[in-house]
This record gives sequence, C-alpha cells and structure tokens, in this order.
Amino acid sequence: MLGAVIGDIVGSVYEFDNIKTKDFPFFQDRCRFTDDTICTLALAECLLDGGDPAIYLRRWCREYESSYGFGFRRWVHDDNAGPYNSWGNGAAMRVSPAAYLAKNHQDALRLAEHITQVTHDHPRGLLGAAAVTTAIWLALSGATAAEIRKQIERQYRYDLGRRVDEIRPSYEFNESCDGTVPEAITCALEAQDFEDAIRNAISIGGDSDTVAAITGSIAEALFGIPSDLRTAAMPFLRDRFIEVLNRSYKSVGSFQSKRDSKSTR
Ligand SMILES: [Mg+2]
Repeated sequence: MLGAVIGDIVGSVYEFDNIKTKDFPFFQDRCRFTDDTICTLALAECLLDGGDPAIYLRRWCREYESSYGFGFRRWVHDDNAGPYNSWGNGAAMRVSPAAYLAKNHQDALRLAEHITQVTHDHPRGLLGAAAVTTAIWLALSGATAAEIRKQIERQYRYDLGRRVDEIRPSYEFNESCDGTVPEAITCALEAQDFEDAIRNAISIGGDSDTVAAITGSIAEALFGIPSDLRTAAMPFLRDRFIEVLNRSYKSVGSFQSKRDSKSTR
C-alpha cells in the first residue's frame, strides 16, 4: 500500500523520461501521485468497506485525473462496461491491498482475483496480480527473498533468474504484466532495503512509476518503510488518501507488528 504509493510518486517523473541509474534525487518537487496510487487506494477502501471494486475504481478515477491507459479510461467512464480482457500491468500495481487486508494466503489470492477481474480478466493479468499478492503475502509472513524467489518461480513460472544489472541495459517501456511483474519482483528481492528497492526499480527504466509501485508494494512487506520516507511522502498526498491508508493499516494490526519488528532487525 504505502510502498506502492511511494514508488508511484518517486517514479512519476521518470515514466516518460527514463534514467538508467540508481543515483537520482528521491522525492522532488515535480513528483506527483498518478493512477497507481489512485487505483491502489480505491481498492483498499473497497476491501475495507466490502464494496464493489468496479464502483470504487470508477468513483476514484473520475474524481482524480491521471494519465490512465486508453482501455481503462474508456471503462472508467462507461458504467455498463464489463471486464475488457486486459493483461496490462495495471492489474499488478494496484493489487497490494489484497495481500495486506487478507486473513491468509488463500484469502489474499481470492481478494486479488475479486479486485482484478473487473477489468483485467485476461489469464496473464490475473496471474500478474496473483504473483505480486503472493510475494507480498510471503514477505509479510517472514519469508526471505530467496524463499520468495523460489516460490514465485515455481508457482507462477516467471523467470526471476536475471539480476537487476542484467535487466537494466535492454529493458524498455512495457505495459504488460508479463513484461513488468518479473522485473519489478526482482528489483524488490535483490534490494538491501526499501529505498534501494525503489532505486532498483527506477534504474531499469520502462514504465517507471508502475514498476516502482509494484516493487515498492513488495519491498514494504520485506523491509518496512523508514519513518523519514513515510513523512516525506505525506505532502504529495490528499487528506483523503492518508485517511484511507490509516484505516487500512489499522485493520492489518497483526501484520503491522511483524513488519515493524522486521524493520528494526
Ligand atoms: Mg502511473
């Protein structure tokens, strides 16, 4: 959740202006939240309220303007539109609340499918969302990066064998789950800490805010988010966003303590 939001904000200035380096100013004045933050928080509120994901996505995305993808924008503004067989990486960047707000792994996967299939009902879209959910769930449960890599490769058949330095030289903009999720997971699993994970994600280029949002959602569960970064992110958010985040973290009490103990380890 907040990890995805921070990745989105930091990556927002690099989506159409890639940099292939980890050396860049983290939060900058021209950073802003984009569709990755809006959709993540819409679905967090939806799960907290037990509501219809389509209604929450449409409500939030009509209220907050962003550079939504063509197919998604059309869906947002058509109340009668059904799922449109998308395999886009939007399925993966917005799914983190399913892992954070679930009771167990099976429940997390059920919630992930519930909030994904309203738009991204292509098998590769559903798979991307499920893989990110599993990675977050495992990290929250105390699994190591090596254990997560092994299970994701086995369960989802993604190739996580390349290192960030091997991905970076040839990686380009890609809006599919298949061309984003394995790279984003690798950027989180190879990192030393939360900030390092986001720097990995931005440094490979591509759809930077979305890659960093996915990476950030997993890195948050693996490492926790340092309090100075939490504080620095707040001025970029609307009051309503912060309220939804606070409500969300209040209801993941049992995992909050796990994550906090990880970050002080
Ligand atoms: Mg975006």
